[in-house]
Amino acid sequence: MDLEEWEQRHREAFYEIKENLPYLDGMFVAYNSNIDAIKHLTASDVCHLLELFEDNALQERTAVYPREIGEPLDFLARLVLSMREGKAAEVPTYTADIHAWLKENLGFDYARMGGQAGIITNLLARLGLNKVVAYVPWLSEEQAEYFAKSKNLLHPKIEGRKLVLKHPTEAFRPDIESKVNWILEYSKGLPVDCAGEKFTVPRDNRLIISSRPKWLRLDMARELYEQLDSIGPLDGAILSGYQMIKEEYEDGSTYKDYVKNSVKVIEKLRALNPEFRIHVELTSIQNRLIRRTILEDIVAGHVHSLGLDTVEVANALNVLGYEELSYAVIQKGENGIIALYQGAIRLLHDLSLERVHVHCLGFYICVLAKGHPLTLKEHRDALLFSSTLAATQALQGKVLGLEDIEASLKVPVSEKGLEDLDNFRLYCVGRKLCTPEEFEYGYVYGSDHDAVIIPSKVVSQPKATVGIGDAISAGAFTGMLALIKRNMVGKAGASGRKEEVSTPSSASGP
Ligand code: ADP
Repeated sequence: MDLEEWEQRHREAFYEIKENLPYLDGMFVAYNSNIDAIKHLTASDVCHLLELFEDNALQERTAVYPREIGEPLDFLARLVLSMREGKAAEVPTYTADIHAWLKENLGFDYARMGGQAGIITNLLARLGLNKVVAYVPWLSEEQAEYFAKSKNLLHPKIEGRKLVLKHPTEAFRPDIESKVNWILEYSKGLPVDCAGEKFTVPRDNRLIISSRPKWLRLDMARELYEQLDSIGPLDGAILSGYQMIKEEYEDGSTYKDYVKNSVKVIEKLRALNPEFRIHVELTSIQNRLIRRTILEDIVAGHVHSLGLDTVEVANALNVLGYEELSYAVIQKGENGIIALYQGAIRLLHDLSLERVHVHCLGFYICVLAKGHPLTLKEHRDALLFSSTLAATQALQGKVLGLEDIEASLKVPVSEKGLEDLDNFRLYCVGRKLCTPEEFEYGYVYGSDHDAVIIPSKVVSQPKATVGIGDAISAGAFTGMLALIKRNMVGKAGASGRKEEVSTPSSASGP
Protein backbone atom coordinates (compact mmCIF):
# COMPACT_ATOMS: atom_id res chain seq x y z
CA MET A 1 0.00 0.00 0.00
CA ASP A 2 1.23 3.45 -0.88
CA LEU A 3 1.60 5.87 2.03
CA GLU A 4 1.32 9.09 0.05
CA GLU A 5 -1.79 7.77 -1.69
CA TRP A 6 -3.45 7.21 1.70
CA GLU A 7 -2.46 10.70 2.86
CA GLN A 8 -4.17 12.12 -0.20
CA ARG A 9 -7.25 9.97 0.38
CA HIS A 10 -7.42 11.24 3.99
CA ARG A 11 -7.38 14.83 2.71
CA GLU A 12 -10.09 14.24 0.12
CA ALA A 13 -12.27 12.32 2.56
CA PHE A 14 -12.06 15.08 5.17
CA TYR A 15 -13.37 17.71 2.75
CA GLU A 16 -15.98 15.33 1.36
CA ILE A 17 -17.47 14.56 4.79
CA LYS A 18 -17.13 18.14 5.99
CA GLU A 19 -19.10 19.32 3.01
CA ASN A 20 -21.88 16.83 3.57
CA LEU A 21 -22.36 16.99 7.36
CA PRO A 22 -24.88 19.84 6.97
CA TYR A 23 -27.26 17.40 5.25
CA LEU A 24 -27.94 15.80 8.62
CA ASP A 25 -30.91 17.08 10.57
CA GLY A 26 -29.50 15.71 13.79
CA MET A 27 -28.22 12.88 15.95
CA PHE A 28 -29.48 11.38 19.19
CA VAL A 29 -26.86 10.30 21.75
CA ALA A 30 -27.52 8.38 24.99
CA TYR A 31 -26.95 7.24 27.83
CA ASN A 32 -23.77 7.49 29.88
CA SER A 33 -21.98 10.59 31.00
CA ASN A 34 -20.08 11.40 34.15
CA ILE A 35 -17.58 13.91 35.45
CA ASP A 36 -13.92 12.91 35.62
CA ALA A 37 -12.17 14.84 38.42
CA ILE A 38 -8.42 14.63 37.97
CA LYS A 39 -5.87 15.32 40.70
CA HIS A 40 -2.13 14.88 40.42
CA LEU A 41 -0.95 14.15 43.97
CA THR A 42 2.00 15.97 45.54
CA ALA A 43 3.90 14.83 48.65
CA SER A 44 2.13 17.46 50.72
CA ASP A 45 -1.33 16.39 49.43
CA VAL A 46 -0.59 12.85 50.59
CA CYS A 47 0.69 13.97 54.01
CA HIS A 48 -2.30 16.21 54.48
CA LEU A 49 -4.63 13.25 53.84
CA LEU A 50 -2.63 10.90 56.08
CA GLU A 51 -2.70 13.34 58.96
CA LEU A 52 -6.49 13.39 58.96
CA PHE A 53 -6.55 9.85 60.42
CA GLU A 54 -4.98 7.84 63.26
CA ASP A 55 -2.00 5.72 62.14
CA ASN A 56 -3.46 2.57 63.68
CA ALA A 57 -6.83 3.01 62.08
CA LEU A 58 -5.20 3.33 58.65
CA GLN A 59 -3.03 0.26 59.18
CA GLU A 60 -6.02 -1.80 60.20
CA ARG A 61 -7.95 -0.66 57.15
CA THR A 62 -5.14 -1.41 54.69
CA ALA A 63 -5.00 -4.94 56.17
CA VAL A 64 -8.71 -5.32 55.39
CA TYR A 65 -8.07 -4.26 51.74
CA PRO A 66 -11.43 -2.58 51.13
CA ARG A 67 -13.08 -3.64 47.87
CA GLU A 68 -15.34 -0.63 47.82
CA ILE A 69 -15.14 2.87 49.20
CA GLY A 70 -17.73 3.24 51.93
CA GLU A 71 -15.99 5.99 53.89
CA PRO A 72 -12.89 8.20 53.59
CA LEU A 73 -10.66 5.74 55.46
CA ASP A 74 -11.36 3.08 52.80
CA PHE A 75 -10.22 5.55 50.18
CA LEU A 76 -7.00 6.38 51.99
CA ALA A 77 -6.21 2.69 52.59
CA ARG A 78 -6.57 1.92 48.88
CA LEU A 79 -4.56 5.01 47.93
CA VAL A 80 -1.65 3.97 50.18
CA LEU A 81 -1.79 0.42 48.84
CA SER A 82 -1.81 1.62 45.25
CA MET A 83 1.01 4.14 45.76
CA ARG A 84 3.28 1.77 47.70
CA GLU A 85 3.26 -0.69 44.80
CA GLY A 86 2.83 1.85 42.01
CA LYS A 87 -0.06 -0.29 40.88
CA ALA A 88 -3.14 1.01 39.08
CA ALA A 89 -6.44 0.28 40.75
CA GLU A 90 -10.09 1.07 40.18
CA VAL A 91 -12.37 0.85 43.21
CA PRO A 92 -16.11 1.48 43.16
CA THR A 93 -18.08 3.69 45.50
CA TYR A 94 -21.83 3.47 45.77
CA THR A 95 -22.66 6.84 47.35
CA ALA A 96 -21.85 10.44 46.48
CA ASP A 97 -20.42 11.09 49.98
CA ILE A 98 -16.82 10.44 49.03
CA HIS A 99 -17.11 12.96 46.19
CA ALA A 100 -18.14 15.65 48.68
CA TRP A 101 -15.38 14.62 51.08
CA LEU A 102 -12.67 14.66 48.41
CA LYS A 103 -13.84 18.01 47.12
CA GLU A 104 -13.54 19.46 50.61
CA ASN A 105 -10.34 17.75 51.73
CA LEU A 106 -8.32 17.45 48.53
CA GLY A 107 -9.86 19.22 45.56
CA PHE A 108 -9.01 18.47 41.93
CA ASP A 109 -6.68 20.06 39.37
CA TYR A 110 -9.26 19.96 36.63
CA ALA A 111 -12.41 18.13 35.67
CA ARG A 112 -13.67 17.03 32.29
CA MET A 113 -16.60 15.33 30.62
CA GLY A 114 -16.41 11.56 30.96
CA GLY A 115 -18.51 8.65 29.71
CA GLN A 116 -18.95 7.65 26.09
CA ALA A 117 -22.26 9.44 25.45
CA GLY A 118 -21.03 12.65 27.10
CA ILE A 119 -17.80 12.63 25.09
CA ILE A 120 -19.57 11.83 21.80
CA THR A 121 -22.24 14.48 22.35
CA ASN A 122 -19.67 17.22 22.83
CA LEU A 123 -17.66 16.00 19.86
CA LEU A 124 -20.62 15.97 17.45
CA ALA A 125 -21.82 19.37 18.67
CA ARG A 126 -18.35 20.78 17.98
CA LEU A 127 -18.38 19.31 14.48
CA GLY A 128 -21.21 21.78 13.92
CA LEU A 129 -24.05 19.33 13.25
CA ASN A 130 -27.40 21.03 12.96
CA LYS A 131 -28.62 19.34 16.11
CA VAL A 132 -27.27 16.90 18.69
CA VAL A 133 -29.84 15.64 21.17
CA ALA A 134 -28.21 14.09 24.22
CA TYR A 135 -30.11 12.01 26.71
CA VAL A 136 -28.55 11.21 30.09
CA PRO A 137 -30.99 9.71 32.62
CA TRP A 138 -28.98 11.09 35.54
CA LEU A 139 -28.35 14.61 34.23
CA SER A 140 -27.53 16.67 37.35
CA GLU A 141 -26.97 20.41 37.50
CA GLU A 142 -23.21 19.92 37.94
CA GLN A 143 -23.03 17.39 35.09
CA ALA A 144 -24.91 19.75 32.74
CA GLU A 145 -22.03 22.25 33.03
CA TYR A 146 -19.70 19.84 31.24
CA PHE A 147 -21.67 19.86 27.99
CA ALA A 148 -20.35 22.13 25.24
CA LYS A 149 -21.98 25.52 25.43
CA SER A 150 -23.37 25.46 21.96
CA LYS A 151 -26.81 26.11 20.57
CA ASN A 152 -26.98 22.88 18.58
CA LEU A 153 -26.60 20.75 21.74
CA LEU A 154 -29.94 19.95 23.33
CA HIS A 155 -31.49 17.62 25.90
CA PRO A 156 -35.14 16.58 26.07
CA LYS A 157 -37.31 17.82 28.91
CA ILE A 158 -41.00 17.55 29.69
CA GLU A 159 -42.65 20.95 30.11
CA GLY A 160 -46.42 21.22 30.47
CA ARG A 161 -46.70 17.56 29.40
CA LYS A 162 -44.88 18.31 26.17
CA LEU A 163 -41.43 17.28 25.07
CA VAL A 164 -39.19 20.28 24.53
CA LEU A 165 -35.48 20.45 23.70
CA LYS A 166 -33.21 22.68 25.76
CA HIS A 167 -29.52 22.97 26.50
CA PRO A 168 -28.57 20.51 29.31
CA THR A 169 -28.03 23.47 31.67
CA GLU A 170 -31.78 24.16 31.34
CA ALA A 171 -32.90 20.54 31.27
CA PHE A 172 -31.17 18.91 34.27
CA ARG A 173 -32.94 17.08 37.07
CA PRO A 174 -32.75 19.19 40.22
CA ASP A 175 -33.31 16.14 42.44
CA ILE A 176 -30.26 14.15 41.42
CA GLU A 177 -26.61 13.97 42.52
CA SER A 178 -23.66 13.78 40.17
CA LYS A 179 -21.73 10.75 39.05
CA VAL A 180 -18.12 11.81 39.58
CA ASN A 181 -15.14 9.53 39.00
CA TRP A 182 -11.97 10.63 40.74
CA ILE A 183 -8.69 9.96 38.97
CA LEU A 184 -5.78 10.32 41.42
CA GLU A 185 -2.48 10.29 39.57
CA TYR A 186 0.93 9.99 41.21
CA SER A 187 4.49 9.96 39.89
CA LYS A 188 7.42 7.66 40.32
CA GLY A 189 9.81 8.86 43.03
CA LEU A 190 7.18 10.69 45.10
CA PRO A 191 8.38 10.50 48.72
CA VAL A 192 5.80 9.67 51.39
CA ASP A 193 7.11 10.19 54.90
CA CYS A 194 4.50 11.14 57.43
CA ALA A 195 1.94 9.78 59.87
CA GLY A 196 3.72 6.42 60.22
CA GLU A 197 4.07 5.83 56.44
CA LYS A 198 7.49 5.84 54.80
CA PHE A 199 8.02 4.77 51.19
CA THR A 200 8.86 6.08 47.74
CA VAL A 201 6.41 5.52 44.89
CA PRO A 202 8.04 2.99 42.51
CA ARG A 203 6.25 4.01 39.29
CA ASP A 204 3.77 6.42 37.70
CA ASN A 205 0.23 5.23 38.07
CA ARG A 206 -3.24 6.10 39.28
CA LEU A 207 -6.11 5.17 41.52
CA ILE A 208 -9.59 5.60 40.11
CA ILE A 209 -12.57 5.89 42.42
CA SER A 210 -15.46 5.04 40.13
CA SER A 211 -18.82 6.31 41.15
CA ARG A 212 -21.66 3.81 40.93
CA PRO A 213 -24.48 5.38 42.89
CA LYS A 214 -27.32 3.01 43.78
CA TRP A 215 -29.86 5.22 42.03
CA LEU A 216 -28.10 4.89 38.68
CA ARG A 217 -30.51 3.33 36.18
CA LEU A 218 -30.11 2.92 32.44
CA ASP A 219 -33.62 3.98 31.77
CA MET A 220 -35.82 6.61 30.18
CA ALA A 221 -38.40 8.55 32.18
CA ARG A 222 -41.85 7.26 31.25
CA GLU A 223 -43.28 10.64 30.16
CA LEU A 224 -40.30 11.17 27.92
CA TYR A 225 -40.51 7.71 26.42
CA GLU A 226 -44.17 8.25 25.60
CA GLN A 227 -43.36 11.42 23.67
CA LEU A 228 -40.18 10.22 22.03
CA ASP A 229 -41.88 10.22 18.63
CA SER A 230 -41.96 14.02 18.73
CA ILE A 231 -38.19 14.39 19.27
CA GLY A 232 -37.29 14.50 15.55
CA PRO A 233 -36.33 15.18 12.89
CA LEU A 234 -33.20 13.11 13.49
CA ASP A 235 -31.15 10.82 11.24
CA GLY A 236 -29.54 8.41 13.66
CA ALA A 237 -28.56 7.52 17.19
CA ILE A 238 -25.36 6.52 18.96
CA LEU A 239 -26.11 4.52 22.08
CA SER A 240 -23.68 3.48 24.80
CA GLY A 241 -23.53 2.81 28.52
CA TYR A 242 -25.38 -0.52 28.54
CA GLN A 243 -22.48 -1.90 30.61
CA MET A 244 -24.05 -0.08 33.57
CA ILE A 245 -26.95 -2.52 33.67
CA LYS A 246 -26.68 -4.71 36.78
CA GLU A 247 -27.99 -8.24 37.21
CA GLU A 248 -30.17 -7.32 40.19
CA TYR A 249 -31.30 -4.19 41.95
CA GLU A 250 -32.30 -3.61 45.56
CA ASP A 251 -35.90 -2.90 44.58
CA GLY A 252 -36.27 -6.38 43.09
CA SER A 253 -35.93 -5.32 39.45
CA THR A 254 -33.39 -7.18 37.32
CA TYR A 255 -31.36 -6.66 34.15
CA LYS A 256 -34.27 -8.13 32.19
CA ASP A 257 -36.43 -5.08 33.01
CA TYR A 258 -33.75 -2.67 31.81
CA VAL A 259 -33.00 -4.67 28.68
CA LYS A 260 -36.70 -4.76 27.79
CA ASN A 261 -37.04 -1.01 28.24
CA SER A 262 -33.84 -0.32 26.29
CA VAL A 263 -35.17 -2.27 23.34
CA LYS A 264 -38.46 -0.37 23.46
CA VAL A 265 -36.54 2.90 23.24
CA ILE A 266 -34.63 1.59 20.22
CA GLU A 267 -37.88 0.58 18.54
CA LYS A 268 -39.36 4.02 19.10
CA LEU A 269 -36.27 5.71 17.73
CA ARG A 270 -36.32 3.51 14.64
CA ALA A 271 -39.92 4.46 14.04
CA LEU A 272 -38.86 8.13 13.71
CA ASN A 273 -38.06 7.57 10.06
CA PRO A 274 -37.49 4.51 7.85
CA GLU A 275 -33.85 5.44 7.19
CA PHE A 276 -33.04 6.01 10.88
CA ARG A 277 -29.87 4.12 11.82
CA ILE A 278 -28.53 3.17 15.23
CA HIS A 279 -24.95 2.58 16.30
CA VAL A 280 -23.98 0.96 19.60
CA GLU A 281 -20.55 1.67 21.00
CA LEU A 282 -19.26 -1.16 23.14
CA THR A 283 -16.80 -1.02 25.99
CA SER A 284 -15.34 -3.54 28.41
CA ILE A 285 -18.06 -5.39 30.28
CA GLN A 286 -16.73 -7.58 33.08
CA ASN A 287 -19.95 -9.44 33.80
CA ARG A 288 -20.31 -12.20 31.17
CA LEU A 289 -24.07 -12.53 31.55
CA ILE A 290 -24.57 -8.81 31.01
CA ARG A 291 -22.09 -8.82 28.10
CA ARG A 292 -23.91 -11.64 26.35
CA THR A 293 -27.33 -10.16 27.07
CA ILE A 294 -26.35 -6.79 25.63
CA LEU A 295 -25.11 -8.44 22.45
CA GLU A 296 -27.92 -10.94 22.00
CA ASP A 297 -30.91 -9.05 23.35
CA ILE A 298 -30.16 -5.36 22.74
CA VAL A 299 -27.81 -5.26 19.76
CA ALA A 300 -28.87 -8.30 17.70
CA GLY A 301 -31.65 -7.57 15.29
CA HIS A 302 -32.34 -4.12 16.74
CA VAL A 303 -29.43 -1.89 15.79
CA HIS A 304 -27.47 -1.42 12.55
CA SER A 305 -23.93 -0.73 13.56
CA LEU A 306 -21.43 -1.76 16.22
CA GLY A 307 -18.13 -0.08 17.11
CA LEU A 308 -15.42 -1.76 19.17
CA ASP A 309 -11.69 -2.26 19.72
CA THR A 310 -9.66 -5.48 19.50
CA VAL A 311 -10.14 -6.52 23.13
CA GLU A 312 -13.88 -5.96 22.86
CA VAL A 313 -14.04 -8.07 19.68
CA ALA A 314 -12.32 -10.91 21.59
CA ASN A 315 -14.62 -10.51 24.59
CA ALA A 316 -17.73 -10.46 22.42
CA LEU A 317 -16.62 -13.57 20.49
CA ASN A 318 -15.91 -15.32 23.75
CA VAL A 319 -19.43 -14.99 25.16
CA LEU A 320 -20.96 -15.84 21.79
CA GLY A 321 -19.22 -19.24 21.85
CA TYR A 322 -16.16 -18.59 19.64
CA GLU A 323 -13.44 -19.23 22.22
CA GLU A 324 -10.74 -20.22 19.75
CA LEU A 325 -11.28 -17.23 17.50
CA SER A 326 -11.44 -15.00 20.56
CA TYR A 327 -8.09 -16.35 21.70
CA ALA A 328 -6.54 -15.79 18.25
CA VAL A 329 -7.72 -12.16 18.28
CA ILE A 330 -6.17 -11.53 21.70
CA GLN A 331 -2.93 -13.30 20.82
CA LYS A 332 -2.51 -10.82 17.95
CA GLY A 333 0.63 -12.29 16.35
CA GLU A 334 0.91 -12.86 12.62
CA ASN A 335 -2.60 -14.10 12.14
CA GLY A 336 -4.14 -11.60 14.55
CA ILE A 337 -5.52 -9.38 11.81
CA ILE A 338 -7.05 -12.39 10.01
CA ALA A 339 -8.71 -13.49 13.25
CA LEU A 340 -9.93 -9.95 13.79
CA TYR A 341 -11.45 -9.82 10.32
CA GLN A 342 -13.08 -13.24 10.72
CA GLY A 343 -14.33 -12.25 14.17
CA ALA A 344 -15.88 -9.05 12.82
CA ILE A 345 -17.70 -11.12 10.16
CA ARG A 346 -19.02 -13.48 12.87
CA LEU A 347 -20.35 -10.50 14.81
CA LEU A 348 -21.88 -9.02 11.64
CA HIS A 349 -23.83 -12.22 10.90
CA ASP A 350 -24.62 -13.51 14.37
CA LEU A 351 -25.90 -10.13 15.53
CA SER A 352 -27.69 -9.37 12.21
CA LEU A 353 -25.87 -6.08 11.76
CA GLU A 354 -25.37 -3.89 8.72
CA ARG A 355 -21.93 -2.76 9.79
CA VAL A 356 -19.17 -3.65 12.29
CA HIS A 357 -16.36 -1.14 12.71
CA VAL A 358 -13.22 -2.38 14.50
CA HIS A 359 -10.52 0.15 15.36
CA CYS A 360 -6.93 -0.79 16.13
CA LEU A 361 -3.79 1.28 16.55
CA GLY A 362 -2.76 1.92 12.94
CA PHE A 363 -5.71 0.55 10.97
CA TYR A 364 -9.48 0.13 10.95
CA ILE A 365 -11.59 -2.66 9.52
CA CYS A 366 -15.25 -2.15 8.71
CA VAL A 367 -17.26 -5.16 7.57
CA LEU A 368 -20.57 -4.57 5.84
CA ALA A 369 -23.59 -6.72 5.12
CA LYS A 370 -24.45 -7.07 1.43
CA GLY A 371 -27.07 -4.51 0.52
CA HIS A 372 -25.52 -1.74 2.66
CA PRO A 373 -26.51 1.65 1.34
CA LEU A 374 -23.23 3.19 0.11
CA THR A 375 -20.37 2.43 -2.24
CA LEU A 376 -17.16 1.13 -0.64
CA LYS A 377 -15.51 4.44 -1.56
CA GLU A 378 -18.15 6.29 0.45
CA HIS A 379 -17.69 3.98 3.44
CA ARG A 380 -13.96 4.47 3.10
CA ASP A 381 -14.36 8.25 3.19
CA ALA A 382 -16.32 7.97 6.45
CA LEU A 383 -13.55 5.84 7.99
CA LEU A 384 -10.78 8.13 6.76
CA PHE A 385 -12.62 11.13 8.21
CA SER A 386 -12.72 9.38 11.58
CA SER A 387 -9.00 8.60 11.39
CA THR A 388 -8.22 12.32 11.08
CA LEU A 389 -10.68 13.01 13.89
CA ALA A 390 -8.89 10.45 16.10
CA ALA A 391 -5.56 12.09 15.31
CA THR A 392 -6.97 15.43 16.50
CA GLN A 393 -8.23 13.88 19.73
CA ALA A 394 -4.81 12.28 20.34
CA LEU A 395 -2.87 15.40 19.39
CA GLN A 396 -4.86 17.92 21.42
CA GLY A 397 -6.83 15.84 23.90
CA LYS A 398 -10.01 17.38 22.53
CA VAL A 399 -11.64 18.49 19.29
CA LEU A 400 -12.91 22.05 19.24
CA GLY A 401 -14.10 22.19 15.65
CA LEU A 402 -13.64 21.17 12.03
CA GLU A 403 -10.65 23.55 11.69
CA ASP A 404 -8.80 21.49 14.34
CA ILE A 405 -9.39 18.36 12.32
CA GLU A 406 -8.18 20.01 9.14
CA ALA A 407 -4.98 20.96 10.98
CA SER A 408 -4.33 17.36 12.01
CA LEU A 409 -4.37 16.17 8.41
CA LYS A 410 -0.62 16.69 8.83
CA VAL A 411 -0.39 13.75 11.30
CA PRO A 412 1.16 10.92 9.28
CA VAL A 413 -0.56 7.67 8.39
CA SER A 414 0.89 4.86 10.50
CA GLU A 415 3.69 2.95 8.75
CA LYS A 416 3.15 0.07 11.14
CA GLY A 417 -0.54 0.06 10.20
CA LEU A 418 0.36 -0.09 6.51
CA GLU A 419 2.75 -2.94 7.19
CA ASP A 420 0.08 -4.89 9.08
CA LEU A 421 -2.31 -4.41 6.17
CA ASP A 422 0.30 -5.48 3.62
CA ASN A 423 0.57 -8.78 5.47
CA PHE A 424 -3.20 -9.13 5.36
CA ARG A 425 -3.18 -8.68 1.57
CA LEU A 426 -1.83 -12.19 1.04
CA TYR A 427 -4.79 -13.68 2.87
CA CYS A 428 -7.37 -11.57 1.02
CA VAL A 429 -5.91 -12.03 -2.44
CA GLY A 430 -5.16 -15.72 -1.79
CA ARG A 431 -8.79 -16.31 -0.83
CA LYS A 432 -9.97 -14.35 -3.86
CA LEU A 433 -11.70 -11.81 -1.65
CA CYS A 434 -10.22 -9.11 -3.85
CA THR A 435 -7.61 -8.48 -6.52
CA PRO A 436 -4.29 -6.86 -5.49
CA GLU A 437 -5.56 -3.63 -7.09
CA GLU A 438 -8.81 -3.70 -5.11
CA PHE A 439 -6.82 -4.26 -1.92
CA GLU A 440 -4.79 -1.11 -2.73
CA TYR A 441 -8.06 0.79 -2.54
CA GLY A 442 -8.94 -0.94 0.74
CA TYR A 443 -11.88 -2.83 -0.76
CA VAL A 444 -12.65 -6.48 0.02
CA TYR A 445 -15.57 -8.47 -1.40
CA GLY A 446 -16.61 -11.62 0.48
CA SER A 447 -19.40 -13.92 -0.65
CA ASP A 448 -21.70 -12.76 2.13
CA HIS A 449 -20.20 -9.39 3.09
CA ASP A 450 -18.03 -6.53 1.88
CA ALA A 451 -15.27 -4.85 3.85
CA VAL A 452 -13.28 -1.64 3.87
CA ILE A 453 -9.80 -1.57 5.38
CA ILE A 454 -7.80 1.59 5.93
CA PRO A 455 -4.47 2.46 7.51
CA SER A 456 -5.06 5.22 10.08
CA LYS A 457 -3.17 8.25 11.33
CA VAL A 458 -1.34 7.72 14.62
CA VAL A 459 0.05 10.46 16.85
CA SER A 460 3.45 9.36 18.18
CA GLN A 461 3.21 11.30 21.44
CA PRO A 462 -0.47 11.69 22.22
CA LYS A 463 -1.53 14.40 24.64
CA ALA A 464 -4.32 12.17 25.90
CA THR A 465 -5.76 8.82 24.99
CA VAL A 466 -9.19 9.13 26.56
CA GLY A 467 -12.11 9.02 24.18
CA ILE A 468 -10.18 8.32 20.96
CA GLY A 469 -12.12 5.11 20.32
CA ASP A 470 -15.38 6.97 20.88
CA ALA A 471 -14.30 9.68 18.43
CA ILE A 472 -13.41 7.09 15.77
CA SER A 473 -16.74 5.27 15.96
CA ALA A 474 -18.90 8.37 16.26
CA GLY A 475 -17.03 10.17 13.46
CA ALA A 476 -17.25 7.30 11.00
CA PHE A 477 -20.89 6.52 11.72
CA THR A 478 -21.94 10.17 11.47
CA GLY A 479 -19.91 10.63 8.28
CA MET A 480 -21.60 7.59 6.79
CA LEU A 481 -25.06 8.94 7.67
CA ALA A 482 -24.20 12.28 6.09
CA LEU A 483 -23.35 10.55 2.80
CA ILE A 484 -26.50 8.42 2.91
CA LYS A 485 -28.55 11.58 3.44
CA ARG A 486 -26.74 13.41 0.66
CA ASN A 487 -27.50 10.58 -1.72
CA MET A 488 -31.17 10.52 -0.66
CA VAL A 489 -31.50 14.23 -1.17
CA GLY A 490 -29.81 13.88 -4.54
CA LYS A 491 -32.34 11.25 -5.58
CA ALA A 492 -35.25 13.31 -4.31
CA GLY A 493 -33.85 16.23 -6.30
CA ALA A 494 -33.53 14.12 -9.43
CA SER A 495 -37.18 13.17 -9.19
CA GLY A 496 -38.22 16.80 -8.83
CA ARG A 497 -38.78 16.86 -5.07
CA LYS A 498 -35.58 18.65 -4.10
CA GLU A 499 -37.34 21.77 -2.84
CA GLU A 500 -39.00 19.69 -0.12
CA VAL A 501 -35.67 18.93 1.55
CA SER A 502 -33.41 21.53 3.09
CA THR A 503 -29.96 21.22 1.53
CA PRO A 504 -26.76 23.16 2.13
CA SER A 505 -26.01 25.33 -0.87
CA SER A 506 -22.46 24.02 -1.25
CA ALA A 507 -23.48 20.38 -1.50
CA SER A 508 -22.32 18.51 -4.55
CA GLY A 509 -22.05 14.98 -5.89
CA PRO A 510 -19.08 12.63 -5.47
P1 ADP B 1 -11.22 4.59 24.48
O1 ADP B 1 -12.56 3.98 24.72
O2 ADP B 1 -10.49 5.07 25.71
O3 ADP B 1 -11.23 5.60 23.42
P2 ADP B 1 -10.51 2.32 22.84
O4 ADP B 1 -9.67 1.14 23.15
O5 ADP B 1 -11.94 2.08 22.58
O6 ADP B 1 -10.28 3.37 24.00
O7 ADP B 1 -9.94 3.07 21.54
C1 ADP B 1 -8.63 3.35 21.41
C2 ADP B 1 -8.36 3.58 19.91
O8 ADP B 1 -7.77 4.85 19.76
C3 ADP B 1 -7.38 2.59 19.31
O9 ADP B 1 -8.07 1.49 18.77
C4 ADP B 1 -6.68 3.39 18.25
O10 ADP B 1 -7.34 3.22 17.01
C5 ADP B 1 -6.86 4.83 18.70
N1 ADP B 1 -5.61 5.42 19.20
C6 ADP B 1 -4.98 5.14 20.36
N2 ADP B 1 -3.85 5.87 20.47
C7 ADP B 1 -3.76 6.65 19.36
C8 ADP B 1 -2.82 7.61 18.88
N3 ADP B 1 -1.73 7.93 19.58
N4 ADP B 1 -3.06 8.21 17.69
C9 ADP B 1 -4.17 7.89 16.97
N5 ADP B 1 -5.08 6.97 17.37
C10 ADP B 1 -4.89 6.36 18.54
